Amino acid sequence: MNWLTNFVLPKIRAVVAPSKEVPDNLWDKCPNCGQMLFHRELEANLYVCRACGHHMRIDAERRLKLMFDDGKFTRIELPKPLVDPLKFRDRKKYVDRLKETQAKRGPNSDALAVAHGTIGGSAAVVAVFEFEFMGGSMGMAVGDGLLAAARLAVLQEAAMIVVPSSGGARMQEGILSLMQMPRTTIAVEEVKDAGLPYIVVLADPTTGGVSASFAMLGDITLSEPGAVIGFAGARVIEETIREKLPEGFQRAEYLLDHGMVDKVVARGDLHDTLARIIGMLRRRMPPAEVVPLPSRSEAKAEERS
Ligand SMILES: [Zn+2]
Repeated sequence: MNWLTNFVLPKIRAVVAPSKEVPDNLWDKCPNCGQMLFHRELEANLYVCRACGHHMRIDAERRLKLMFDDGKFTRIELPKPLVDPLKFRDRKKYVDRLKETQAKRGPNSDALAVAHGTIGGSAAVVAVFEFEFMGGSMGMAVGDGLLAAARLAVLQEAAMIVVPSSGGARMQEGILSLMQMPRTTIAVEEVKDAGLPYIVVLADPTTGGVSASFAMLGDITLSEPGAVIGFAGARVIEETIREKLPEGFQRAEYLLDHGMVDKVVARGDLHDTLARIIGMLRRRMPPAEVVPLPSRSEAKAEERS
């Protein structure tokens, strides 16, 4: 230690290094209108652009938080299916792809998160897709997760709500991913057979095998504004039928106009809307006040007087 290290070096560093680093996550750009948005403000606005109302994709944790009462819920551990039974490989091995994504998104995670709690005071089980996990694709883990969610809903006599955000089946699992379509349909049937509400909140995007199974079976189908919902992509359809598709095709609002969606709900209104719907569907109260019938002796006494 001498004056060089103690005195000169810090001075040089102060001159050379940028005095105050600007965190790169301070601003976000709206992918729809290009508006620069202050990150903290965007977070407070539930990742909805304040300039154009564009609903950005959000992760499962944030979505669960905004759906349950007071943002409180309990996540359940999901069953672990066989890993890569087909030994699939494209540019990368499927197991490596899974490992890489899990390193980012948590060990043993997959494209679905399931939690339970209350919405508007009623018990609810919510299954939410994680789009960041391999495009929210549905493989065996997602199928198992939806089955577990349905069984939990039946066990707790709770409403089941699913928020798909998925490109469809997970091609790395081939036929096994396609088999999740009938499986998840059966899972939904179990909830319906128990007389419990099953509500779907379509989020951007809901396509492929997901839109061809449980996502279109809701007793009530809600959607986030602007969400892309469809089976095949618009470009594929245009190339097949050789026609220009109408504007807004496969968007939530278009589907609402055509009767495929019951209501397009802004993210900020989702909790209250769900609470109202579940409350209506689960109300055990009779539609009018019950007037007790007078007993026979009372009726006679009344006749005499
Ligand atoms: Zn915008």
